[in-house]
Amino acid sequence: MQKSITSFFKPKDEISSTDQCPNYDIIIPAILMYDIKELHKHCPMHPGMPLRPMLAQPTKGVHEVLERFSGMHITCEWKYDGERAQIHLNNQGDISIFSRNSENNTAKYPDLIARSKSFLKTNVHSYILDSEIVAWDVERKQILPFQVLSTRKRKNVDIDEIKVQVCVYIFDLLYFNGISLVTKPLSERRMILFENFQEIEGEWKFATALNTDDMDEVQQFLEESIKGNCEGLMVKTLDEEATYEIAKRSRNWLKLKKDYLSNVGDSLDLVIIGGYKGKGRRTGIYGGFLLACYDAENEEYQSICKIGTGFTDEDLKVHSAFLQKHVLSGAKSYFRYDSSLEPDAWFEPVQVWEVKCADLSLSPIHRAAIGIVDNERGISLRFPRFIRIRDDKSPENASDANQIAHMYNSQDQVKNNQKSSNGMDTESDFY
Ligand code: ATP
Repeated sequence: MQKSITSFFKPKDEISSTDQCPNYDIIIPAILMYDIKELHKHCPMHPGMPLRPMLAQPTKGVHEVLERFSGMHITCEWKYDGERAQIHLNNQGDISIFSRNSENNTAKYPDLIARSKSFLKTNVHSYILDSEIVAWDVERKQILPFQVLSTRKRKNVDIDEIKVQVCVYIFDLLYFNGISLVTKPLSERRMILFENFQEIEGEWKFATALNTDDMDEVQQFLEESIKGNCEGLMVKTLDEEATYEIAKRSRNWLKLKKDYLSNVGDSLDLVIIGGYKGKGRRTGIYGGFLLACYDAENEEYQSICKIGTGFTDEDLKVHSAFLQKHVLSGAKSYFRYDSSLEPDAWFEPVQVWEVKCADLSLSPIHRAAIGIVDNERGISLRFPRFIRIRDDKSPENASDANQIAHMYNSQDQVKNNQKSSNGMDTESDFY
């Protein structure tokens, strides 16, 4: 496994060259020619070259938003449930659409390319937009669930055969007419967006937003977002600490999902590393799986739970057929697990599943986040349930050990225990 190139060459307090220009073919010659401190000037952002997206921290309620953003200007945007899309236009007029994982998805959306001139209001010759593509019900004029979008063809899409229509919800502008905007605050980036692009019903829309620091209004806006078929809100800083942080899960974007009322505020994205043979109706296929989180520091997959719930019979057949192609002769050296969990088959870490659970607890056999919360015990999920495949995430983008530790520590029960045992709230330790 390789370390991300974005971890190198990062001058303090500046955007790293590898973040804004993630391409060795450009960076390496520049290193040989220029002072490392000047590198970012010689390796600029280029439309056509995908940037790793800014990500958000989960929260468990409006109170956490208030704690974090007290006294700051913030905006709440609906959190659309579709597919992230970074849309680039370069000076030659070429449009490219990149996924959350920086894969080139342009061929999947010929319909968007065909109508990409309609939303320009001024003389625009280059841009990088950040957005979410959602499935759109043309007759009812409403957003459709993610599951509908996932039925859309991925490759060799013929524009005349498209059955699932889409609408793009734009929420950020990172580059405009030759200038990078990532160091400008969101309020300014938004102003440039609104001045130069226009909405087209059912095709191109700006994310529905409300600028407020009144928590009752935030709560009400959250409820409206759910009625509008969204997952909840993204709460973002507008002026102070409001730059676009490439490749970072930032504290300046908080996600507030409708599930926050449960003990665990967010779902987890986990990697399948093992399978257990099914019994009864599930004979001949895998009936249960061993899941792991990713620990970037040690570059290893750490077991977090076994899962056998949330699957239809059809799901299990599809997963078994897919995983069968990735069976290993034994566990990889970078799988961390207890021998009591030995599955019937080990799999190459190739797929990520979104999973929900009742809560997270310390475990003597699982190894997730071991050494962060407890030196000997890892963290495991109670009552895990399969939600969906996350094929927009690579295994190394799965929930990582620090996020798991943070989620564990954010649970009310754990927080209360920590407060009573040492009188301190340790929540912020994991940011
Ligand atoms: P999740 O599992 O919640 O989708 P994730 O790990 O893919 O999370 P997060 O940063 O945690 O990514 O959640 C933000 C995601 O929500 C973005 O990647 C983007 O695809 C989507 N999204 C929808 N609406 C917005 C919005 N208004 N602003 C930013 N991101 C948005």
